[in-house]
Amino acid sequence: MSDSVTIDGITVGYSQIVRNDIRNTYLKFDGDTLLLISKRRLKNPQELIKKHKTWVIKNYLQVTGKMHFFDEGRIFYQGTPFTVERQFYAGRPRVSINSENSRVIVKAANDISAHAAIVKQIRKKSLDYSASQANAKAAQIGVNISSVKVRKTKRWGACNSKKSISFNSFISMLPTDISDYVVSHEVAHLKELNHSKRFWDIVRELSPEYKRLRKELQKYDNTERPIFNNMEGYPDIGHI
Ligand SMILES: [Zn+2]
Repeated sequence: MSDSVTIDGITVGYSQIVRNDIRNTYLKFDGDTLLLISKRRLKNPQELIKKHKTWVIKNYLQVTGKMHFFDEGRIFYQGTPFTVERQFYAGRPRVSINSENSRVIVKAANDISAHAAIVKQIRKKSLDYSASQANAKAAQIGVNISSVKVRKTKRWGACNSKKSISFNSFISMLPTDISDYVVSHEVAHLKELNHSKRFWDIVRELSPEYKRLRKELQKYDNTERPIFNNMEGYPDIGHI
C-alpha cells in the first residue's frame, strides 16, 4: 500500500512494509519512496514520519537530487534543511539559527528585510568558517594566505597568484565534510595554481575523501532564491 505525506511543503510518497524478522521500526528510502519497515502494521505512520521530519526531508532531497540552498520557508545550513519562521519585529532584524530543532527564527518587519538578514547571517557564518579552516589547512602544508573573502558568485571557491582566496558566500550551507573539501581545494592552489597530479596530491593530503566529496558537491545548488513570498523589489534574487 502506498500513500503520501506533505511536510513543510514537500510531498513524500511512502509505503509500509511488515517484516517478522525485525525488532525495531525503521525508515529508509527506496528511490524516492520512503519505506516504513516494522514488525507490525503502524496505526499512524504519518506521525512517525513527522517525528523524523528533518531526516526525511534531508534524505528525500538527497535521493531526488534537489538540494537547493534556498526554498520557500526553508534554507540549508551545514547540509541540513532548516525551517524558517518569520516573526514580526519593527526594529533592526535579528536572526537565530537553532541547530537543535533545525529552525531559523527571523524577526523582521517584512519579507525582504527578513530574507536579507538571513543572507547576511549566512555570509558571516561562511566567512568565519572558511577563514578559520583555510588558515588551519594552510598551516598544515606550510603556506601563507594573504586574505580570505566570501563572494556572491556561482563558483564555490577561487584562488589567485597573490595568495588571496575567496569562497562562495553560502559555503556554510554545505555539509561540513563537503565544505572542508572546497576549502582544501583552494588552499592546495596556494602551492599549485593548476589542476596537475601534484595539485590533487595536496588536496588528498588535506581532504582524503576528496573524490567522493567532489562528486557530492555537484548535487548542491547555491542559487539565491526567495525564502519568503513577498520579495518584489529585492535586488539580488536571480542574479549572480
Ligand atoms: Zn581548482
